[in-house]
Order: sequence, then C-alpha cells, then structure tokens
Amino acid sequence: MQECELLLKRLREIVDRPIRIMVACGIQNRVIMQNRLREQLPKELTLVAGPGCSACVVPAGYIDVFVRIAVRPDVITASCKDVLNVPGSQDSLASVAAHGAHIIEIATPLDCLKLAKANPGKIVVYPAVGFEASAPSVAEAILEAAEQGIDNFCVIPSIRLLPPTIDQILRDSCLRIRGLLCSDHLTSISDTRAYTRLAKKYSIACCVTGFELSDILRGLLNMVMQIRRGEASYDNQTAEYFSSEESERIRQMVSGVFFITDTLWRGLGIVAGSGFVIRDELALYDATKRFHIRFSEEDPLRGCACDKIISGRALPPDCPSFGMACTPEDPVGPCMITNEGICWSYFHFSNVVETETE
Ligand code: SF4
Repeated sequence: MQECELLLKRLREIVDRPIRIMVACGIQNRVIMQNRLREQLPKELTLVAGPGCSACVVPAGYIDVFVRIAVRPDVITASCKDVLNVPGSQDSLASVAAHGAHIIEIATPLDCLKLAKANPGKIVVYPAVGFEASAPSVAEAILEAAEQGIDNFCVIPSIRLLPPTIDQILRDSCLRIRGLLCSDHLTSISDTRAYTRLAKKYSIACCVTGFELSDILRGLLNMVMQIRRGEASYDNQTAEYFSSEESERIRQMVSGVFFITDTLWRGLGIVAGSGFVIRDELALYDATKRFHIRFSEEDPLRGCACDKIISGRALPPDCPSFGMACTPEDPVGPCMITNEGICWSYFHFSNVVETETE
C-alpha cells in the first residue's frame, strides 16, 4: 500500500493540466471503484470507462438468438455465468432457463465436449461471448471436436475485437481522450501492433498494465509522464505470457477457425473488422448456420445509457435509471449485470454524486 501512496503522491505533484484517460477494461474499472481511486486522484485527472466488458457489448439481438436456440428441445446451452442474465429484447438465458430451457453453466469451452459426449441425443451449444483473448479456447474446442468426430457440439460466434471499436470511439475529438489504459487480457493476439497504431493515430498515450491498484497507478503515471513529454506511444508493463513461437501457433490456430468481419456492438453500432466468424469448412460447428438463424442488425436501447457510458461520454450517475429503475437485482442494461460492468461497480462501491455532464 505504501507503493500506492507514493504513486498517488507523484501523480498529485505532476498533473498540472486537465487530462482525460479512458480505462477500457471492466476489471480495472472495478478495482478503481473498489479503492475509491477517483476521489484520491488530482482533480484534473479524469477517468472515463471504455467498452471493455464483453458481456456488456453483446447486442440484444444476439441474446435473442441465444434464447431462440436455447428453447429448442434438442439443445443444451452451455454458457459462462456472465452471459446468463444479459437481457435480450424480451428474455435472457436465465429467464428461459427458469421456464425449462436446458442451460448449464460451464467454466471453459472444452467442458462442452464432455457434455456433448454424455448427451448424444442433444446438441450442445456454446454462446461464445468474449474479446479476442477468448478466441483460442473456443478455436481449440472446435478443432478438438472435429478431431474426435464430435458432431453434436456447436458455437454461437460472438467474439469481438476491441481495437477497431476503440478506434471508432476515439474519432470523436470532443471526448478529449489523452490516454488509454488497458489490461493484457484485452490486448490483441492477431494484431500485436494495434494499440501502437492507435496511440500514433490519435496522439494519445497508451499503457497496458495488470489488475492490482499499484499496476493501475503505475500505468496512469506512465501515461501522464508521456503526455507531459509530448509523446504518444504504447507501453506494455505486463510480462509476456507466451514465447513468440507459442504466440504464432495460437494466432495460426485462431485464424484457421475464424475470419474477421464487421459486427454489431450494443450501443455502438456496426464496427468494421471487429467480429469473428467461423470459417465455412467448419460450418458444422457454427450454430447460426446449423439452425439457419441470422443476427438482427437492430439494437434498441430502452431507457439505458450504456452506449454513452462505455464510450467515455458519461458516467453511471448520469443515467436517470442508475440506482432507481436499474439496480443489480433488477437491471435495465447489461452494464449493471456483471461485476465487469461499470454501472455494477459504481453501484457497489460508490455513493458518488459525480457526473460527466454537470
Ligand atoms: S444504470 Fe442501468 S440503465 Fe443506466 S446505463 Fe447503467 S445499465 Fe444502463
């Protein structure tokens, strides 16, 4: 903790101008709220949230597809916990499970293969929600199923690539974002220079750090120093997980299963080159092809300001529903559902009256 105090002291000494930093990662946003960091930072340093909660950015039309498939009598849906309560236009996976849909919570996509083998009369469907870092485990499950000849397993592809969406957000110069803080689980496996290009393109400082409060403070200090020096660069303060050979093997495995396409994000519209689609030669494992279902391109946001909040235009207290019509027990939008959602973090760890629009 002493290190955090020293880092905070240094930040208070050197922040001498208004600086707005986008914290893209939902976990880092939670740590910031848990530690009431905003209240301790110099008042010229403003932190806004970004689109880094994967369950929060799944459009209602995608959840509707998850639900349509889940209610089929021949299907077992195997899902990670975060997705279950995300609302579609009418239902969520959790609400149809309460009415008899066969939905099982799992930890990893490979768990689906055990389920498929144990239930030969059913099709096990995995709604693959996540950012690019989750693509290798989904690709591995698909390739393993193909290798073992398991044909009663398929995936609803809903994996998203973050850098193109941050690029789209940063085009709005009115946001005055000067720095971008990311975590290593948001960094891109298929395009390792994506954040370097964003830093150069928008003349912003960019830093990748871990999840501890001290990591976040070091990242903020790193970016403030860059901004003071008039630099705009990318700095990764985390250790590399994989050797370059292993990274290359993973990239090839992912690109053998998926290709990149335009995709819809909740509240943010269609973003070019930000989605993953399963290749035609593996169509058996693509639930949308197997069940002949297309995703809707409509994205109605009823009474929810998540679009503004995940693009740095507002903070949760700016939303009229925050803590009133929308609570974790009765959420209106996805940012209030999972513990990576910024509204959830604000609700649990703050009694703030701070707003972006005041
Ligand atoms: S408080 Fe609820 S309704 Fe408002 S933006 Fe957050 S999730 Fe959406």
